[in-house]
Amino acid sequence: MDLLRMTIHEARELLAAREVSAIELTRAYLDRIEAVDPEIGAYLTVTPEPALDQAKAADALLAKGDDVPLLCGIPLGLKDNLVTKGVRTTCASRILESFIPPFDGTAVARIRDAGAVFLGKLNMDEFAMGSSTENSGLRLTRNPWDRERVPGGSSGGPTAATAAGLCTASLGSDTGGSIRQPASHCGVVGMKPTYGRVSRFGLVAFASSLDQIGPVTRDVNDCALLLQAVSGYDPADSTSVDVPVPDYLSAVGEGAAGMRVGIPKEYFVEGMDPDVERAVRGAMERLESEGLELIDISLPHTEYGVPVYYLIATAEASSNLARYDGVKYGYRSPERARSIIDMYAATRSDGFGEEVKRRIMLGTYALSAGYYDAYYRKAQQVRTLIRRDFQAAFDTCDVILTPIAPTAAFRIGEMADDPLQMYLSDIFTISANLAGLPGLSLPCGFTGEGLPVGVQLMGRPFDEAMLLRAARTLERTLDLGDRRPEL
Ligand code: GLN
Repeated sequence: MDLLRMTIHEARELLAAREVSAIELTRAYLDRIEAVDPEIGAYLTVTPEPALDQAKAADALLAKGDDVPLLCGIPLGLKDNLVTKGVRTTCASRILESFIPPFDGTAVARIRDAGAVFLGKLNMDEFAMGSSTENSGLRLTRNPWDRERVPGGSSGGPTAATAAGLCTASLGSDTGGSIRQPASHCGVVGMKPTYGRVSRFGLVAFASSLDQIGPVTRDVNDCALLLQAVSGYDPADSTSVDVPVPDYLSAVGEGAAGMRVGIPKEYFVEGMDPDVERAVRGAMERLESEGLELIDISLPHTEYGVPVYYLIATAEASSNLARYDGVKYGYRSPERARSIIDMYAATRSDGFGEEVKRRIMLGTYALSAGYYDAYYRKAQQVRTLIRRDFQAAFDTCDVILTPIAPTAAFRIGEMADDPLQMYLSDIFTISANLAGLPGLSLPCGFTGEGLPVGVQLMGRPFDEAMLLRAARTLERTLDLGDRRPEL
């Protein structure tokens, strides 16, 4: 058994049977990170000592036997916008390069309490703004399937690490596709839960009405397991919702026969890579042969998704990022400033990267007096129309199936000079965030060049269980075999 390829489920069994110890498993990952991560660049911070301490504690629990917590002894990685007590949390920004949070966020605390071992913090686009992880201010991450290509983004570190055997699974965040798109590009499973399903307390805010934490895993069962561990109401996040958390672990095996799958015509448009389209249509056929019903639907406001998202997300970001002023924490420009305004300006000019500054300016503009009604308010109104499109569609179907991105992973540098092109590539993922819906990305095939392709499933609010059932059915019937990146 290859320790570094096991799913959480497989590792749990081996650990419970005492065929491997949490210390051995953790050491295997730490060695692998040392050997392979210089080529991939997934980690910003590796934490061997606390990881081995956690593993030791897990082994003690496992030795006692009964009532072992869900993630006991499982080595996980965390996107570096999830605050971790005593461990540097940078958001891949120079402005937070040496920031050490004094507390754990809620999702992190929950998996810590469930016995997980934290290997370290994973790379991302700076403040999660991007689709390729090239906007990281600290490190370049490469796609494990082809090192000349991007892993996608912004959770490129979590997805590359999970695909490359540098952690068993990881947590990412998704504001407009940042879990689903890199999961697709790296050949792993990723889910953005319903807005409000997982507490955002301790997730560094990018766009607060869109951000959501979610799992990145090697299969659908693990996705259910990790979702189970992080879900649930949290009084510390006023937008988390107090509804019961179903038993995802049993739901995932329930099958999907008879389920109605909506296929929105607006998501199958010209300009899509034919290999991607072939893989996605293949997934549709498989579902049909498993007894699911395919239904043509329309989401007529889809074309406004990109402009609406890039107004709302930048507006919220410009407000959220005002706190990085060099006063309370993070970087302060060493320049001798003549006034506090000069100090702010110097700190923010040096500390933020180009894309972050671009978005702060776009968002500030959209919110400014005189433009607010034309841009921000209008965007909010169209957001409501997008949400209503989905409400109407879910009268006739149970899940919606679409592509994740128009192409597979692109080459490093290929889109770097064209931010608009990069924004446009988010077209298939951002609507789920605007409407607050759960979305899941599942590997469904490969391009002719051997790059993984994912398919997206979207569901009704708080119906992650339905997504997991459909995804598990698809995963089982696709049976993509044991293809994995060569490293
Ligand atoms: N690619 C989108 C953006 O650049 C989404 C990012 C995200 O989901 N964090 O904003």
